[in-house]
Amino acid sequence: MKRIRNFSIIAHIDHGKSTLADRLLEFTGAVNLGGKMGQILDSMDLEKERGITIKAHAVRLKYKAEDGNEYILNLIDTPGHVDFSYEVSRSLACCEGSLLVVDATQGVEAQTVANAYLAIDHNHEIIPVINKIDLPQADPERVKKQIEDILGIDSSEAILASAKEGIGTKEILEAVVKKIPPPKGDPQAPLRAMIFDSWFDNYLGVIILVRVFDGIIKPGMKIRLMATQKEYEVQRLGILTPFPKDIEQLSAGEVGFIIAGIKNISDTKIGDTVTAVESPAQQPLPGFREVKPMVFCGLYPVETNQYEELKSSLEKLRLNDSSFFFEPETSAALGFGFRCGFLGLLHMEIIKERLEREFNLSLISTAPTVRYKIVDKKGEYLIDNPSKIPKIYERIEEPFMKVSIIVPEEFVGEILKLCQERRGIQKEFSFISKDRILLVYEMPLNEILWDFYDKLKSLSKGYASMDYEFIGYRASDLVKLDILINGEQVDALSVIVHKDKAYYKARAIVQKLRTVIPRQLFEVVIQAAIGSKIIARESIAPLKKNVLAKCYGGDVTRKKKLLEKQKEGKKRMKQIGRVEIPQEAFLSVLKIE
Ligand code: GDP
Ligand code: MG
Repeated sequence: MKRIRNFSIIAHIDHGKSTLADRLLEFTGAVNLGGKMGQILDSMDLEKERGITIKAHAVRLKYKAEDGNEYILNLIDTPGHVDFSYEVSRSLACCEGSLLVVDATQGVEAQTVANAYLAIDHNHEIIPVINKIDLPQADPERVKKQIEDILGIDSSEAILASAKEGIGTKEILEAVVKKIPPPKGDPQAPLRAMIFDSWFDNYLGVIILVRVFDGIIKPGMKIRLMATQKEYEVQRLGILTPFPKDIEQLSAGEVGFIIAGIKNISDTKIGDTVTAVESPAQQPLPGFREVKPMVFCGLYPVETNQYEELKSSLEKLRLNDSSFFFEPETSAALGFGFRCGFLGLLHMEIIKERLEREFNLSLISTAPTVRYKIVDKKGEYLIDNPSKIPKIYERIEEPFMKVSIIVPEEFVGEILKLCQERRGIQKEFSFISKDRILLVYEMPLNEILWDFYDKLKSLSKGYASMDYEFIGYRASDLVKLDILINGEQVDALSVIVHKDKAYYKARAIVQKLRTVIPRQLFEVVIQAAIGSKIIARESIAPLKKNVLAKCYGGDVTRKKKLLEKQKEGKKRMKQIGRVEIPQEAFLSVLKIE
């Protein structure tokens, strides 16, 4: 055990985590990249080797250090987005230290702070690495000072590196060996191994990645997953180099994969503890939590006959992602579809994109919403669809987040205004360097879904960075805003808004809908209502002529083109009553000025 080091790389996006990981793999001879950086840890299905789908989220490297000894270095990858912060925390829990990569031209950003705090929470030995020193704008001294001032991490021995040019690679590996402590643990104690990743392989079933804390695991052993109480027999054990290699045992302190004939990925929860059926551990490892979706939307096929296809595609995606949720839902406006739940906005985008790209589905999605807590006569319960809010209730509570923003001073005025508009409660305002400010707000998640990130980026010319975490439910003065089209309420367009903003939002939504709904052969009236009270109204004048009338019948290609264009446009239209409504309309409620 004293020659093992378990570590991860943490960074703000684009600061060079993947490039550095590739460098470390190359330097230690794990792979030959032939000069081109392949982003090995990022590829989902790296390739098929000996029939195993590889997800290189933990790589075992061999490194011969300057002290003459050979060390085993386990590099555990962490997901790079705030939506997956629980997964990040589990990966960090499996390591004793981390490399904190900071871009020498950008300095400390919001995710640098969030990730560094997570690593500090896990008592990590943190090695600062200042990357991209090859760039002319690099200012390592300034970045060192930021690391000390903002994070309170000693940066006097920060390593200056260029992952691109391979500068500092050896120094980084030496620091990993010298500074990060070896794992502790008792190989004689009952087995306790933490699951930090899992995926589904068509031939082998679920493959889980674990860090063994106590005990030894061997093929043939009966294991129990403590959170789900499911039992399996270990068929194969191995390590990723990054290519899979079978081994005879994994002992306390080690990292590797287990194949145990597991069929269902939802049995293998991230953060759960694997123990032995014979002489099981008394207590699971700390920190396990059931992950819950935070953001919901309805997904409907444009063509009703694609419903079954959508269902089977969702099932296939779920095989590999147990953090995403779906159940059948019917909408009066959109027909049969699914209510889907995601960890966050990015997670939602990823799933939607995969459904469209990989499964070739054409979908209508409703505006994302959070899960509200309703308190009424029936008690307390959560709803994930605005159309399900009861008429009478005692109060509504909504999820609140702690939002941390780092912004250059010149843009701070605009950002403060934005946060205030979004019902943010300021908790901190501090200079982290001469010209950059850290803002901390408590803000409803609902307000973040409404275009917050895009606004933050555009108001700061791209310079602001942000991170957020869930802090709890709080009561708010919320109302349901319904949209009626030619007198018919469209359930899929209902949104929940704060009472103070209801009039303004109602007006903005109907105006926006007026621009995205194409003219029809009759007048279209768009109204917004709270309960039975109409608070905004717009109308779309009827079309005067048939579009084809313009083509005189002479120009056949032009006519064809027009018809095709119409068909294209129809692809994402839904017929509601007599009115055709494009996909854009369902999301337009989010994108209002
Ligand atoms: P990640 O998001 O942290 O994984 O960042 P990547 O490793 O994907 O790097 C982001 C971008 O920065 C890519 O275009 C890299 O080629 C580039 N990059 C990474 N390291 C360096 C470096 O040391 N110097 C320079 N000039 N560019 C780098
Ligand atoms: Mg990356």
